[in-house]
Amino acid sequence: MAWRVNVLTLFPEMFPGPLGMSLAGKALNDGLWRLETLDIRSVASDKHRSVDDTPYGGGAGMVLRPDVVDAAINCSVARFGEVARKVFLSPRGKRLDQAMASKFVADGSVMLVCGRYEGLDQRVIDAQRLEEVSLGDFVLSGGEVAAMALIDACVRLLPGVMGNAATVDEESFSAGLLEYPQYTRPPEWNGRDVPEVLISGNHEKIKAWRQAEAEKITRSQRPDLWEIYQCTRTRT
Ligand code: SAH
Repeated sequence: MAWRVNVLTLFPEMFPGPLGMSLAGKALNDGLWRLETLDIRSVASDKHRSVDDTPYGGGAGMVLRPDVVDAAINCSVARFGEVARKVFLSPRGKRLDQAMASKFVADGSVMLVCGRYEGLDQRVIDAQRLEEVSLGDFVLSGGEVAAMALIDACVRLLPGVMGNAATVDEESFSAGLLEYPQYTRPPEWNGRDVPEVLISGNHEKIKAWRQAEAEKITRSQRPDLWEIYQCTRTRT
């Protein structure tokens, strides 16, 4: 069964966008995953098709109405089927990481609700039990770019998407470390050589070098990951 993503957005024309290109785009054409978008505005029932209103209590900006977003969620389920998880992209959410992406893939299907303006009325988040997922500690102008990042991270984990399954296993975060540095031809460029060990043909040595580099780079760039890595290593 193909992995399914249903996106709810005020800007459906943004999709598939970058997801229609390169590896993700090929996988989409090959039917390895399915993307359905629903225009939140299409379910707005009043004459002006309004989807937002001013916040109670005052303050800047507009808030997406709960009745409209609720109707959009129900419409998406009716049209495209039930989903394993319903997510609202939000800076308040749990931070997206590689483990979370693997879980989304394993669960088989996901609905992604993209906010705009000041966000979404809390009542629909509660009533529909939306999980909140964040891309990081910064504020985007809408959930669409975050949804695309989440989808992209998931799609490249689907079997058959990356040319070589081992690529995924060796990447940053999969073993709790950042990736070692990569090199390709030419062997000498602008006075800079490729590390000799990589040309040695000695696979044991190459493996050890890559492990040492991955540890070194993680320790200096991401002490937070390094600490977790050391704890899990001493435990096993
Ligand atoms: N007023 C909100 C920000 C609204 S930004 C606040 O201060 O928390 C508008 C929409 O962009 C949000 O509803 C959300 O869907 C999306 N968005 C913004 N930053 C995001 C992030 N870091 N991760 C995921 N989605 C984000």
